[in-house]
Amino acid sequence: MTKSNLPLDADRLWDDVMALAEITDPTRPYTRRSFTALFLEGRALLARRFSEAGLTTRLDAAGNLIGRIEGRNPALGVIAIGSHSDTVPSGGRFDGIAGVATGLEIVRALRDSGIRLDHTLEVIDFLAEEPSEYGLSCVGSRGMTGSLDDKMLDLTEPGGEALREALRRVGGDPTRLGKARRDDIRAFLELHIEQGVVLESCSLDVGIVTSIVGIRRIELVFQGEADHAGTTPMALRHDALVAAAGTVSSVRRAAEQLAAEGPSYFVATVGVLTVHPSASNIVPGRCRLIVDIRTTDPDLTRRFVEILDRESVAHSLAAQVTRTSFATLSDGPPVACDENLRSKLRQGANELGLKQMDLPSGAGHDAAFMSRIAPSAMVFVPCRAGKSHAPEEWADRDALAAGAAVIYQAVKDLDQSLTRNVQQGAA
Ligand SMILES: [Zn+2]
Repeated sequence: MTKSNLPLDADRLWDDVMALAEITDPTRPYTRRSFTALFLEGRALLARRFSEAGLTTRLDAAGNLIGRIEGRNPALGVIAIGSHSDTVPSGGRFDGIAGVATGLEIVRALRDSGIRLDHTLEVIDFLAEEPSEYGLSCVGSRGMTGSLDDKMLDLTEPGGEALREALRRVGGDPTRLGKARRDDIRAFLELHIEQGVVLESCSLDVGIVTSIVGIRRIELVFQGEADHAGTTPMALRHDALVAAAGTVSSVRRAAEQLAAEGPSYFVATVGVLTVHPSASNIVPGRCRLIVDIRTTDPDLTRRFVEILDRESVAHSLAAQVTRTSFATLSDGPPVACDENLRSKLRQGANELGLKQMDLPSGAGHDAAFMSRIAPSAMVFVPCRAGKSHAPEEWADRDALAAGAAVIYQAVKDLDQSLTRNVQQGAA
């Protein structure tokens, strides 16, 4: 695969990604947090480039930036391509942005080839995909799919501003969220860096995503007694950290077992562990853990949670402490990518002579929400050493262009095949 036989311009796509990367907090590259002035500056650049590409640009009530080019037969509905332009703190130049730039470059490539689609084509920059200071991820795609409720809009950031105010501040309208809800999208496609090492280690060009993991988060609290570390004999201790440590080991062991069963994807992590009072001379009196469970098979989550429940109680008894909380903080179901769209993407990769594989996504994406209202699918491109959410995050120019070209092929194909389906349905 060489750059010259791709149906789009790798340099132009690269320039969009790099131009957005310039818009960063200079002290913490690459930071462009949602709802900030920098974020709006990034969007202004995107809106300008959308317009230059011939897109009509608007913000919807959920704060999504949408560029649109009318099809020859608008009644057919919309094919949409998108992702997000916000970043995590000290994030990378590619996560999200690559998917938005892909949509933009596809519009320009179609124009350059003199192709006008039957379907209307939209490029979407979803608002606040990354978890923001308001404690919620995927704000825009939730809004577009009717999944952004009042309780979420009431969430506040540490300074006290509610999400509904922030949404208004960036041009959305929380009182008219129903207007953002869509029923006219016939296909949604998202390109994203893999954020893992599978494609790179297998020397593959693209991954066709089979499903996006469901994520459940469970909070556990162990309550013991804070005592003097020098004078409290071992047998008389109520050490909350001993129960927590046993639970961390159980999480690891159970997750390894379930992952090894295959073929479903399964991972679980304890990423939060707080110890009170956290002093070297005090027996830990209280511990809080958050377990993050991700899988493509909800039945594995059910089995894992049973094990976690049982073993964490056993650890608390053994450590003579009480488990005072075992609470589900959030629970999103896994989402299967649309089979028809996946086959179009596979076919596109074949036509371009690209090496591909099917793989699940262990990270959440806007496509997971979009699949609630439209057939949705994703293309992954390799990123160096799997690094993401870090300044070193890197994807090669040609790798990005190859992934974008797969979506380009699929869009052209879908424009024809979805039209035929409608005609056959009417006949
Ligand atoms: Zn992302």
